[in-house]
Amino acid sequence: MDDKHRKLSSYRTKRNFTHTNEPKGNRRSKGRVYVVQKHDATRLHWDLRLEHRGVLLSWAVPKEPTLDPGVKRLAIHVEDHPIEYATFEGDIPKGNYGAGHVDIWDKGTWTPEGDVDSGMEEGKLEFEIEGERLHGGFVLVRMDGDNKKENWLLIKKDDEDTAA
Ligand code: MN
Repeated sequence: MDDKHRKLSSYRTKRNFTHTNEPKGNRRSKGRVYVVQKHDATRLHWDLRLEHRGVLLSWAVPKEPTLDPGVKRLAIHVEDHPIEYATFEGDIPKGNYGAGHVDIWDKGTWTPEGDVDSGMEEGKLEFEIEGERLHGGFVLVRMDGDNKKENWLLIKKDDEDTAA
């Protein structure tokens, strides 16, 4: 397994760190942090982040994530974020990328099933979440048909952790 850290160049290019309190990203870690941030930006969305190889793999989910296995949530893959972002809450000032309020909506740990790098490549990531709001098995599947290949679906697996 490749243990090299993923790069944060795309994340850093989008932001001016003299104008936003968001972290630039220096810390490296090999944990399995999971976090969802409710981001009241131009459009309200929920940012799902999964720690992998020193960064947070990230998806923007336009509708609130759910434990209902019958619901497929669009999850737009976005740039890797720094580990420190997992604890970020507050306001991104007007005029900056992602301007608006950020709150932690859920946090905990995640455990991938299988190799994460192959999963990202192939467009299918299966994992367990241990959070407060979200828990149990989930799958992220990349959709066919868009050129940029950034549209995924977040689906709760039908297991004992599903919504009643
Ligand atoms: Mn966001």
